[in-house]
Amino acid sequence: MAQGDQQPLGSEQRPLRVAVVGAGPSGFYAAEALQRQKDLKVEVDILDRLPTPYGLVRGGVAPDHQKIKSVVRVYEKIAATPGVRFYGNVQFGRDIMLPDLHKLYDHVLFAVGSEKDRRMGIPGEDLQGSHSATAFVGWYNGHPSHRDHDFKLDVERVAVIGVGNVAMDVTRILAKSADELGKTDIAHHALDELKRSKVKEVLVFGRRGPAQAAFSPAEIKEIGELEGVDLVVRTDELEADLKLRDAVEPETRKNLEYLEERAKHGEGSAARKVRLRFFLSPAEIVGANGRVTAVKMERTKVTTDEKGNQKARGTGEFETFPVGLVFRSVGYLGVPLPGVPFDAEKGNLPNAGGRIVDEGGKHIPGLYVVGWAKRGPSGLIGTNRLDAIETVKLMLEDATGKQAEVSPHKTVKAAEDFLRERQPHLVTFADWQRLDKIEVERGQPAGKIREKFTRVNEMLDAIFRSR
Ligand code: NAP
Repeated sequence: MAQGDQQPLGSEQRPLRVAVVGAGPSGFYAAEALQRQKDLKVEVDILDRLPTPYGLVRGGVAPDHQKIKSVVRVYEKIAATPGVRFYGNVQFGRDIMLPDLHKLYDHVLFAVGSEKDRRMGIPGEDLQGSHSATAFVGWYNGHPSHRDHDFKLDVERVAVIGVGNVAMDVTRILAKSADELGKTDIAHHALDELKRSKVKEVLVFGRRGPAQAAFSPAEIKEIGELEGVDLVVRTDELEADLKLRDAVEPETRKNLEYLEERAKHGEGSAARKVRLRFFLSPAEIVGANGRVTAVKMERTKVTTDEKGNQKARGTGEFETFPVGLVFRSVGYLGVPLPGVPFDAEKGNLPNAGGRIVDEGGKHIPGLYVVGWAKRGPSGLIGTNRLDAIETVKLMLEDATGKQAEVSPHKTVKAAEDFLRERQPHLVTFADWQRLDKIEVERGQPAGKIREKFTRVNEMLDAIFRSR
């Protein structure tokens, strides 16, 4: 077989070559779906800017949710599948650009998630002490990008804006005793600060009502069951929605019934309080001398618009709550990637079922997207599996029946050589497995599940010293 020969794409002679950019859940599920089918021979390289795989499972899922994190066992199996490779510490847009990927691969699949926080667009968002949940979550999970964020938990009363599952994670980590977190894989810098925390009261604000709260029943219940914490719910903010209990989805009904039960407990006597408030939309983060001192909230009413969406409408009535810190947990946004279309309004890569499209809605050949970068920041980890299967189906459809040139650039070796030339500190899956073992061992003296490395250079040092 000579260079320049045409061969069926996806044949033994000319496998379909796929670069997956991003080693989070959706990237791994896509690799799994690409290898599970037997019609085409596929080679998949999963690239990640960090030396560590697993995206939000490592850097997002809370340290006290180890059961959720155990999904990495599935990803380990996917990484061990013949035809799948992991290359860490390669950043798209810095070490490798789109034309490079086009040269080395047939398809490029973006699985980059939504890494930025959504803004509320109100005065005071940038005051000292106003933090995004994204940064806080990354910080307590030891994500290198948030390692040096300064979280001083030296105030008694804090506000969390938003009532999704991320807000529940943030609330739980703030309210839970640091001793209980001490055995998890929480970053030690966060554990130290949480031990010094003076936080006694967490006010959690939903701009709509309890029937529209985005948290899952298990997440709110977990807060209600925290040792030393009272979850306080107001009957007057619950009553109207309770009347809807027979008309809502089962999950919402569970939420309403649980909140009703909590409301009966009243104030309780625990030292720490989580106060869940509804029908309050943020109007301003108030500060003095550049620091947060309060949140000003506007009371709302929920109305249904012409499309049937239930919206929070301001009533013109305001209330100010003195707090020393604010955690904005109002969702995530994607960031643009060089050379790839981006929908700034939705914060994702414009696509049709996973095929990336141009302004005219036409598929750009070879470009695909999965996960949060495709559909926005919604769903649980498992949602990404079905999402990846959908995109992969289209990728396979687009490759089937095609002829492709046998090219010296479209080989496993050519790609690895190129990546090593661009990034001499390339990290393989075997490298990561050694780092994984070292982290677990580092945790043992303190009885922790693992002690993560939280800086890229420390990760690389540990990897290369152990080679
Ligand atoms: P989310 O579920 O979309 O929740 C966002 C919250 O922010 C909603 O309560 C929303 O209220 C509120 N919000 C948005 N804009 C606002 C504004 N301008 N002012 C006030 N409130 C505003 O997003 P998320 O919590 O970031 O979670 C992202 C995804 O990850 C979700 O699918 C979640 O289930 C998942 N997740 C799951 C877990 C778990 O299973 N343990 C943990 C973490 C995350 P409206 O509804 O009124 O817009």
